[in-house]
Order: sequence, then structure tokens, then C-alpha cells
Amino acid sequence: FAEEQQTEDYLFKIVLIGDSSVGKSNLLARFARNEFYPNSKSTIGVEGVVGALIVYDISRRQTFDSIGRWLNELHSHSDMNVVTILIGNKSDLKDAREVSTTEGKALAEAQNLFFMETSALDSTNVNAAFQTVVKEIYNILS
Ligand code: GDP
Repeated sequence: FAEEQQTEDYLFKIVLIGDSSVGKSNLLARFARNEFYPNSKSTIGVEGVVGALIVYDISRRQTFDSIGRWLNELHSHSDMNVVTILIGNKSDLKDAREVSTTEGKALAEAQNLFFMETSALDSTNVNAAFQTVVKEIYNILS
């Protein structure tokens, strides 16, 4: 690996919010385990929350109904420009689905959020979800 190369790392603060048991801890664990880079040269930190993943469980409608409340909570504690993605987690639970992909997309469009369905269980879209947020923050800053 390129030890000589001068690279810079960026440190962004991203929060995961949503009802209890939607899978926030497991999404973070899945992402962190696969994406750890120990050889950073310098780190550029950005103050405050700049990214957010708002998570619901596609197999429990009440967690989807809570999204509006979580958005209010987020906006009352951070800049309105916080890069936010709506996440429908547990996409592996196909037979237990209570919230359609179309509904998730529609809410995301109405609220001007990115959208993705993920599974922390089988890894589907977990990296992609975090990367969507990180890339957008990077684009805004550069
Ligand atoms: P948190 O309270 O939002 O942090 O939720 P957890 O990460 O603790 O997950 C709550 C429960 O849902 C645990 O039993 C997890 O094993 C389970 N879980 C989390 N993500 C998934 C997923 O993508 N698919 C399935 N089937 N179960 C999940």
C-alpha cells in the first residue's frame, strides 16, 4: 500500500436516529467492521453534526410513522443543511414487510432526503447508505 503518499482523512460527525430496535447499532457495527483505515496521515475535522441517517424498520409501520418526529428532533438540534438519508432497514424481512419501498421513497422525496433500504443482517446497501451521506458532505465542502 502507498505509505509514501500524503493523504488526508476527513472526520465527519454523523448521527443515527430512529425508534428503538430499528437496527441502528447493527448498521453501525456492520459498516465500521468493514471500513476501518488505520494508516491516516492527517485528519480534517468538521464541527457539529453534518450527516444523519434516520432509520425505520420496514417490518414495523409505527417506526415509519415516527420519522416526522425524528426529523423535527434533528432540525431542532442541528443546521438545516445536515445531509440526511432515510433508511428502511431490515429489507431481508420480506414476508413481514409493512412499509412499501414506494412509500419510503415518497416520504424521502417530500422531505428532500436521500433514500435507501438496507439490511444489517445480510449487508445489503449498508456501505452504500453511509457512502451516500459521506460523499454528499464531501461535495458540499469541496
Ligand atoms: P437499535 O435499537 O436501533 O440500535 O437496534 P439494534 O441494532 O439493537 O437491533 C434491534 C434488533 O433488530 C436486534 O435483534 C437485531 O439483531 C435486529 N436487526 C437489526 N438489523 C436487522 C436487519 O437488517 N435485519 C433483521 N432481520 N434484523 C435486524
